[in-house]
Amino acid sequence: MKLSSNESPYGPLPSVLDAVAAAATEINRYPDTGATALTGALATRFGVPDDHVAVGAGSVGVLQQLLEATSEPGAEVVYAWRSFEAYPLLADLADATSVRVPLRDETHDLDALADAITDRTRMVLVCNPNNPTGTTVREAELRAFLDRVPDHVLVVLDEAYREYVRDPQVPDGLDLYRDRPNVAVLRTFSKAYGLAALRVGFLIGHPHVASAVRKTMVPFAVNHLAQAAALASLEAENELLERVERTVKERGRVRDALLADGWAVPPTEANFVWLRMGEATLDFAAACEAAGVAVRPFAGEGLRISIGTPEDDDAFLAAAQAYPTRNT
Ligand code: PMP
Repeated sequence: MKLSSNESPYGPLPSVLDAVAAAATEINRYPDTGATALTGALATRFGVPDDHVAVGAGSVGVLQQLLEATSEPGAEVVYAWRSFEAYPLLADLADATSVRVPLRDETHDLDALADAITDRTRMVLVCNPNNPTGTTVREAELRAFLDRVPDHVLVVLDEAYREYVRDPQVPDGLDLYRDRPNVAVLRTFSKAYGLAALRVGFLIGHPHVASAVRKTMVPFAVNHLAQAAALASLEAENELLERVERTVKERGRVRDALLADGWAVPPTEANFVWLRMGEATLDFAAACEAAGVAVRPFAGEGLRISIGTPEDDDAFLAAAQAYPTRNT
């Protein structure tokens, strides 16, 4: 059971498979490098102009392009840590310097993030909900933070898990970017839309940001099947969001079961839970593995466990229950 990568546990919808099969008859041709139809569909879906949207090969692809567009040696990229593992990798690739600001109570410390900004800072990344902790920043604090960020710094709100958020106090980045030219939102088809293997992500931001992403794209980076699948997924959004609802319910069930069993689990608004285990991390990961469950350990820190099907989650819960110690 693979609970290690925060994927959707559900296979493709028949309508999405049909769209991919139809698109497959055209793979002798290059794809539309501008992903025009998908860009237009996303603009319509989110009620923004087309030139506010840039599509890329996964949201990591989009982020890599953004970092390339904004960085030079000596440029600083500020983000909370621990957060998404790709941030330091992509910053390194862009020759930028990572400035990591420790989480406080498993959550972004927005004051410390703002304090870490210098005149060399080009970008601040805010992962909301945060991977791997599942924790969130709330609207009032995020607005106050954005008010402190100088205009020369681009704030990227990484909302890869947005569709799983149910706490009404967690802001939708799309409401925040509109009157802030230096704020952009990253989303993906890899999680709620179930297309992780096809690599489609997108940015919504002001035209100067979206066009910087487009200019740094490898030609044809988003392939024809991926574009077709993403378009079909937007059309099937209601069905996909029902699956998300199932995952949200499962998330509550898993967290409640862990809490009842004596585990400390931070509140999560994503499709995973986080267990801080310190030195016991790798041992607990091995115990899960022995029970047939792959989870994601961060040695010396903790484990991230994706929410799967009820059967997957039961297998994980059984492994957790059988483990001799707890993390409190
Ligand atoms: N952002 C975050 C916070 C993630 O956790 C992930 C996937 N693990 C991504 C972005 C990357 O998603 P994609 O598949 O779109 O590159």
